[in-house]
Amino acid sequence: MSKFWSPFVKDLVPYIPGEQPKLSKLVKLNTNENPYGPSPRAVAAMQAELGETLRLYPDPSGDRLKRAVADYYGVRPEQVFVGNGSDEVLAHAFHGLFQHREPLLFPDISYSFYPVYCGLYDIDFRAIPLNDDFQIDVADYAQPNGGIIFPNPNAPTGCLLGLGAIERLLESNSDSVVLIDEAYIDFGGESAIALVDRYANLLVTQTLSKSRSLAGLRVGLAVGHPDLIEALERIKNSFNSYPLDRIAIAGAAAAFEDREHFERTRRQVIDSRETVTAAMEALGFEVLPSSANFIFARHPQRDASEIAAKLREQGVIVRHFKTARIDQFLRITIGTPEQNQVLLDSLRQLLG
Ligand code: PMP
Repeated sequence: MSKFWSPFVKDLVPYIPGEQPKLSKLVKLNTNENPYGPSPRAVAAMQAELGETLRLYPDPSGDRLKRAVADYYGVRPEQVFVGNGSDEVLAHAFHGLFQHREPLLFPDISYSFYPVYCGLYDIDFRAIPLNDDFQIDVADYAQPNGGIIFPNPNAPTGCLLGLGAIERLLESNSDSVVLIDEAYIDFGGESAIALVDRYANLLVTQTLSKSRSLAGLRVGLAVGHPDLIEALERIKNSFNSYPLDRIAIAGAAAAFEDREHFERTRRQVIDSRETVTAAMEALGFEVLPSSANFIFARHPQRDASEIAAKLREQGVIVRHFKTARIDQFLRITIGTPEQNQVLLDSLRQLLG
């Protein structure tokens, strides 16, 4: 702390990103990255940008990417916002849409960046417990005019809420913005983007970090009513007038255009998730039903932090949260079949 800080900085509790270990030989199953590489078409599009044109500023509206997203989802480009990772898109939404007098509602056990943004933008919040099965019960969410946010599938549980329940939530909270954070939707759920033309209070965010394997590029997006998108554009243009650099715009647009690579790799991850789930259950783990590229599992007789530490000794890193109610769970990213095999062999060995 220093006398030079703005007063509110001393109370900020920043987000701590998952570990990016410096050793390369580890089986890294801790931060939900895609085990397969990005689309070769995306890589070629980025390489084509690496030259003379970098002396020019990028397109301040990122139109090429907005068009690619709009085409993919059958919406209009003015319904699309793009930014530097969905974390930044979420930050602009908190800033531009959630600073109300009413508290923001989100599940107790969800993405731990939400309370951080509430701290940053001075937003009151109420965290609503998940039900006994770790599911979101939409009947628990009633907000007359404020905001509601949750990941779907939820993180770190991986549990999915269906579109029917989402519609009930939108209808019963029609004067609040409902933000659905679909970071993991491509691994098993139906996107609520299908509903944006019917609900002016719905904003959906997505990322290219997971199903499109571009975590290192930092690209995220939001889709919603043009009025909600305009709020995000105003915030962005008051902060940084370029959403993304030229390389990111080109690579992200090409990633959306390469449907074949996307479909094939996400299918591989989904199939592996089912294999890993069955094998973990055979080892005695309880695994929550996952629609994401990770599973959330606990062993009834063994301590989760101990399992995580022992896996690490064997070169496998998974995520353990010390948070109440989930401190006996491990969140394990689905890897390649070879990585999953190393995980399962290590578990078999350490469970004896
Ligand atoms: N939402 C959720 C639920 C996440 O788990 C993550 C990844 N940590 C993000 C958003 C942010 O993803 P990114 O900034 O890489 O787009």
